[in-house]
Amino acid sequence: MPLQVYLDGRWYPKNEAKISVFDHGLLYGDGVFEGIRSYGGLIFKLKEHLNRLWESAHTLMLEIPMTQTEMQKAILETLKRNKLLDAYIRVVVTRGVGDLGLDPAKCLRPTIFIITDKIVLYPESLYANGLEMITVPTVRNLPEAVNPSIKSLNYLNNILAKIEAKNSGCMEALMLNHQGYVAECTGDNIFMVKNEDGAARPRLLTPPVYLGALKGITRQAIIEIAARKQIPFEERILTRHDLFNADEVFLTGTAAEIIPVVKLDGRLIGKGKPGPWTGILRKEFRNLTRKEGVHYTL
Ligand code: PMP
Repeated sequence: MPLQVYLDGRWYPKNEAKISVFDHGLLYGDGVFEGIRSYGGLIFKLKEHLNRLWESAHTLMLEIPMTQTEMQKAILETLKRNKLLDAYIRVVVTRGVGDLGLDPAKCLRPTIFIITDKIVLYPESLYANGLEMITVPTVRNLPEAVNPSIKSLNYLNNILAKIEAKNSGCMEALMLNHQGYVAECTGDNIFMVKNEDGAARPRLLTPPVYLGALKGITRQAIIEIAARKQIPFEERILTRHDLFNADEVFLTGTAAEIIPVVKLDGRLIGKGKPGPWTGILRKEFRNLTRKEGVHYTL
């Protein structure tokens, strides 16, 4: 049976789930989205994802014409119809169908769709051996222009960075902000681990989101794991120099989960292979996803 897609209150086979060419999500990238995961019938951090979706929409003055409870129901039903216990869930809310002008007031009703599918992760070898990254010339959107905390359909900033990384033979890009400080990657937040003072435990560092990053839900889960495991953690302004000289670097995101980075701009990071703390945090994160979440059955 073809994949069933939720679109404005109904389910359609994948090839029949269609939206108008006048939809401002398509014409202008005017809309918001979320990427969510379920693991063995548990939707991870669903409430957090829905809150972020609603917050992004609120900033855009886009009123989502359903409640979070109704959205949750629609997600669960889409998962069931597709018989998916382990899934990637994409929720999209666009401004809706309007005319060819920008004015969102001309769009009468937002378009909502939900796609649930199997997830395509990075190849397993990258988790085992680590990723090589490059810093790209495209800087992250200015928070005063299009705030990266808004998870909007306008991902061109990230796509340009992705193109530049791939042109250089890398799968992921480090994005700096306009001041040259580390912001995040094209679809992931970034962390580093460094033993700065010969302590028994190293320090876990990540840039503050106000420098130009999405407030990642995986990022927050890692921060909470670090607190539980008594790993010292700090949000700190970071430069490329800090990353080059880190003991370990890893990325976090719903799709990628936790992926080690072993090379940046030609510099080996640490010993040039995934480090032990990345491994510990990966394992803890994995355990969390298998025991916490909104439960459903098929
Ligand atoms: N930064 C960007 C630009 C992203 O698109 C994502 C993934 N949605 C993330 C970071 C990671 O966020 P999360 O952990 O909530 O998936």
